[in-house]
Amino acid sequence: MINEYQIRVTPEVAAQEDRLKNYLGDEYGLNPGDIKGVRILKRSIDARQRQIYVNLKVRTYVNELPADDEYQHTEYPNVEGKPQVIVVGAGPGGLFAALRLIELGLRPIVLERGKNVHDRKKDLANISRTQQVDGESNYCFGEGGAGAYSDGKLYTRSKKRGNIEKILNVFCQHGASTAILADAHPHIGTDRLPKVIEAMRNTIINCGGEVHFETKMTQLILQGDTIVGCIADKEYRGPVILATGHSARDVYRYLAEAKIEIEAKGIAVGVRLEHPSKLIDQIQYHNKQGRGRWLPAAEYSMVTQVDGRGVYSFCMCPGGFVIPAATDKEQIVVNGMSPANRGTAWSNSGMVVEVRPEDIEGDDCLAMMRFQEQLEKMCWQQGNMKQTAPAQRMADFVNGKLSYDLPKSSYAPGLISSPLHFWLPKMISHRLQQGFKAFGKSAHGFLTNEAVMIAVETRTSSPVRIVRDKETLQHVQVQGLFPCGEGAGYAGGIVSAGVDGERCAEACANYLAQ
Ligand SMILES: Cc1cc2nc3c(=O)[nH]c(=O)nc-3n(C[C@H](O)[C@H](O)[C@H](O)COP(=O)(O)OP(=O)(O)OC[C@H]3O[C@@H](n4cnc5c(N)ncnc54)[C@H](O)[C@@H]3O)c2cc1C
Repeated sequence: MINEYQIRVTPEVAAQEDRLKNYLGDEYGLNPGDIKGVRILKRSIDARQRQIYVNLKVRTYVNELPADDEYQHTEYPNVEGKPQVIVVGAGPGGLFAALRLIELGLRPIVLERGKNVHDRKKDLANISRTQQVDGESNYCFGEGGAGAYSDGKLYTRSKKRGNIEKILNVFCQHGASTAILADAHPHIGTDRLPKVIEAMRNTIINCGGEVHFETKMTQLILQGDTIVGCIADKEYRGPVILATGHSARDVYRYLAEAKIEIEAKGIAVGVRLEHPSKLIDQIQYHNKQGRGRWLPAAEYSMVTQVDGRGVYSFCMCPGGFVIPAATDKEQIVVNGMSPANRGTAWSNSGMVVEVRPEDIEGDDCLAMMRFQEQLEKMCWQQGNMKQTAPAQRMADFVNGKLSYDLPKSSYAPGLISSPLHFWLPKMISHRLQQGFKAFGKSAHGFLTNEAVMIAVETRTSSPVRIVRDKETLQHVQVQGLFPCGEGAGYAGGIVSAGVDGERCAEACANYLAQ
């Protein structure tokens, strides 16, 4: 007999199957020995009160073993000899576009400027070792895109549940834990993502698609008003799904020069804020002992308005690392990631201020991108022209004081004390100061000198939108070009980029059918 129940239990019960069976036995008059399996379908933590509960939706198998699939399987047919589509970029947008093309009977040719996910790892390690960033292989460029060595948080504000579930199921089919289907805040972890990405690449190749690394698209091929391919190491022919991410500034410059319409869009800019994870656990779980044995490293989400602009936490990484995410030599950009166990001694999050095109100088389509670039370069200069990042203790920043020393940090290239309150643009620093005061009031202990701010977080989203038609998803001016994912301005994370990749593949199939 199979039954489903909605229950509310302590973290200790939620984490242990035999305790869960006993609980279900007591509550629903079942013999725990007859329960042959318990599958968790939904899991969320309720930490609003001192006593913390876990809400679970569970499926029990009484006197029978679980025989149903844990995830929905997608069939990928062989597409050798089928019409080909060029997918530029092997981030989540490009990879999910390629897989969906295969489902639809089309042959994807994926071009990726960076290296495969394995070789890329060495270049990431080199950033801390040599203080140099490889312009073609870094935390944003390479197989898996910006999502590969990320946190792997898989939640999104997008409301289209069906599409999101499809993305999560495809991840499971390629090796991700099925826990991501149950958790309210699913997370794969930076240590597990590369294997999943590699499996996705193998599906593409085994079905007759192609994946080319160290192959940078430099130009689109335009015939009349139709894109018929692109140029990289050679010419590739077919409609183009352009999924090059928010850091491919050369692509934006090329599009602007080629007069393929793009427009500036708002971004958010600030710092990474890093606390000891124990402190965040104490605050969020209302307990001096921290999270104890059964709870995960605590998350937080903060938002306020200061002088008409949003100030908010972004991409929180409990038990994670702050990482150097620049894509060129004379820049510092920081971001965050965490391993599957979220077990480091630090919890970080972007703390950013909304910036709109009207807030900055210049009104051309690349103005926001130049603003990002200037800030990243200034940060590199403040960081002694290396990847050592300028940093300041949080309360010192709020009080306008230079920090005479800095706490231990997860940021591997190292930190240098710097008066961020002084050199960050006033519209950012002032709002962050006010925002931090507000966050300190709502979460007692959060505004502290135990926390360190690390500059500068600029790549929260794309500074440019590549304008496309809402219905056909083709570029508004030219046919056969499908701007896709975060770099085109239509996604803001791994899952939404995946969803957009699938939509672009479907739009491309419709285009070819016509
Ligand atoms: C450190 C870090 C942590 C993050 N953590 C999370 C998280 O936990 N959860 C979450 O949802 N999001 C996270 N993000 C954001 C997420 O990674 C992006 O939203 C997502 O990867 C966007 O997908 P995309 O496919 O649109 O673009 P990208 O992932 O940026 O991929 C674009 C790809 O195109 C390639 N490319 C660029 N130009 C060219 C060219 N000319 N020719 C060929 N290839 C090219 C790039 O090398 C890159 O591989 C994180 C980002 C970073 C940097």
